[in-house]
Formats: sequence, structure tokens, C-alpha cells
Amino acid sequence: MRVIPIGIWGGYPNKNEATSAFLIEQDGFRCLVDCGSGVLAAVQNYVELRNLDAVVISHYHPDHIADIGVLQHAAMVGMQLKEWNTPLIIYAHDKDLEEFKKLSYKGVTEGRAIRAAETLELGPWQVSFCETIHPVYCLAMKFTADGKTVVFTADTSWKKELIDFSRESDLLVAEANLYEKHLGIIQGHMSGSQAGKLAELASAKQLLLTHLPQYGELEEVLEAAKSRYTGQVEFAVIGKTYEV
Ligand SMILES: [Zn+2]
Repeated sequence: MRVIPIGIWGGYPNKNEATSAFLIEQDGFRCLVDCGSGVLAAVQNYVELRNLDAVVISHYHPDHIADIGVLQHAAMVGMQLKEWNTPLIIYAHDKDLEEFKKLSYKGVTEGRAIRAAETLELGPWQVSFCETIHPVYCLAMKFTADGKTVVFTADTSWKKELIDFSRESDLLVAEANLYEKHLGIIQGHMSGSQAGKLAELASAKQLLLTHLPQYGELEEVLEAAKSRYTGQVEFAVIGKTYEV
């Protein structure tokens, strides 16, 4: 399984970069996990859009869905040119029906509902979900194939259920949007130390930090994670291939 970070910023993109998105690949199947601001431009460095096999969305905040509309335009143009053959399936929860309905567009993209309690069979993966703690309903995701697992926490405050959900994951992609001093002040996100604690308690084999703040001394977030996690940890590097 290969994971390529496409966008690593929370809330809004840093200059010339993108908010949340990861490309995950296995056996030639390519899935985009979240599709935030700047993602459509960035992801084309790694895959032709028509070769995307699926999209999975964690929640309906703009930094996770901002580029869905332009992805739909790309699919529409691709279909008109007959370069794009089948509708692109976009998986997301339907707790917000108004947002969910927008995922289906002119027959070129089709929204399909995912549920926390159900495992999704998606290409080579089994994908399971865990509700997070966030101002809007949001799902963490676990991709499993060939005995390997990659977990994306999506957006969340500290939630102890995520420990079991992330247990012995080969790669844990955890949000670390907060500096320690902002815990309790900014809601709905984890700090570096909490991401580290999650990885340590779950015995995750490798930790990537994402959904990063554009302000402050970013190195503090990494140091905070390292103070709680004894394994390998780094900021998710845009365009780097992480193989598990
Ligand atoms: Zn969010």
C-alpha cells in the first residue's frame, strides 16, 4: 500500500500548497482521501485525474471538500471528450444530506453513503470508520489490505476510542492542528503531544502529522509528538511515497 500526501494544511492552504488530501494506492487502484483547497492542482503531479478510482471524504468542512466542485468539472469535461468512461464514486457520510447530495453531479460523479458501523469494500481495501469529535460529524478511516493498515484520524479532538481503532496500524496519519498552549482554547483538534500519545498507546508503527497550523513555530508540534511517541514520526511530506 502506498500513501502520498497531497495537502497537509488545516483550515486553509499555505501559499502554493493545499489543505487536506492523501492519495492511497494498492494494486493499481487509486483513491483520494479528502479533497480540500488546492488539491486538484496538486494531485495531478501524481495521477491523471481520469485514473482516480474513488474519493473518500471524512467530513464536509471546506478544507476537506473545497475542490470537489472542480473535480466534478474535470470529470464532466473528461466524459464529454470520452476520455473518462465511468462516473467517479465519492464516498462520504450522509448525516448532512444537503452536502451529501452535492456529491452526485450530472452523472459524472456519484455520492455513496458510508456509515461508521459498516465496512466498505473498496477496490483492494476494506475500509472501516470511527466517528471523531469535531464540530461537524466526521469519520476517521482505516484502510486494510494484505494484512497492512493505514489509519487517517481526519479531524478530531482527543478521543480514546481512536486508540483501538488505530491499534498496530502500519501507518497512522494523525491530525496535529494545535500547539499545546491552544488545547482547550481551540476545539475539535489534537495537539502534537496528543497525536504522539495516540500513536504510542495504539502501538502504531509509524506516525505522520498532518492538518498543520500555518502559524507559530511548527517544529514545536513535532517535538511535542516526539515527547510522547517512541516510534518514527515526521510531518507528512507532500509528494513523498510512504510504503507499508
Ligand atoms: Zn474539519
